[in-house]
Amino acid sequence: MHNQRQILPLALIACLCGLLAMAACKKKEDLSMKMNQPRNIRGVSNFGRTFGDLNSKQLAVAQAIGIPPLASRREAEEMADDRLTQIGANERYAVDSLTHSIPYLIPGAAALLDTIGQNFLDSLASKGLNPNKIIVTSVLRTEGDVKRLRRRNSNASQHSTHAYGTTFDISWKRFEKVEDPDGRPMQDVGADTLKLVLAEVLRDLKQDGRCYVKYEIRQACFHITTRRP
Ligand SMILES: [Zn+2]
Repeated sequence: MHNQRQILPLALIACLCGLLAMAACKKKEDLSMKMNQPRNIRGVSNFGRTFGDLNSKQLAVAQAIGIPPLASRREAEEMADDRLTQIGANERYAVDSLTHSIPYLIPGAAALLDTIGQNFLDSLASKGLNPNKIIVTSVLRTEGDVKRLRRRNSNASQHSTHAYGTTFDISWKRFEKVEDPDGRPMQDVGADTLKLVLAEVLRDLKQDGRCYVKYEIRQACFHITTRRP
């Protein structure tokens, strides 16, 4: 009896030491670089033709299901939680520092953005590529934003779908690399490859009737309007 009382704590300590040693060993092994093992990357045959939903087409749905254009940012804040959802960087997507728009969308557009970000991460995993997040580059524009934008870029449309909370832009040139939670270095995935994977995700959602997509060359983005309110 006396012996058992002494042995039990000793056995526990020995066990703990063993576990700690194993954890230390494992940590050492995990420092190797996570490499990509690309497979099944097909992309789309022609970006312009696959994503050719013109502004007029996107505007019609934006006006049907979106909010009326807003004069100021204060109006957007007042609508938040009611007709508009505030969006922000999360585990599914990143948001640029927005200079000519504000981070609000109607619920259907916010849900679409979540879906695109999640499908993109899932797609990368299934194709053996290290995780990257999409980057949102433009969201809701008030009349003030559009005026300021037009001063800089005469092409910025006066009748922009961005005024209705239905539309956002996603870069096809820049992506945000997701760091490994265990601290292992991750091999980069080229932007051209990421663009192909994003194109497949958007083509599928477009075919499902979730959205309209326009491929913008000059602005290096996909201009996307939700078809669900
Ligand atoms: Zn746009």
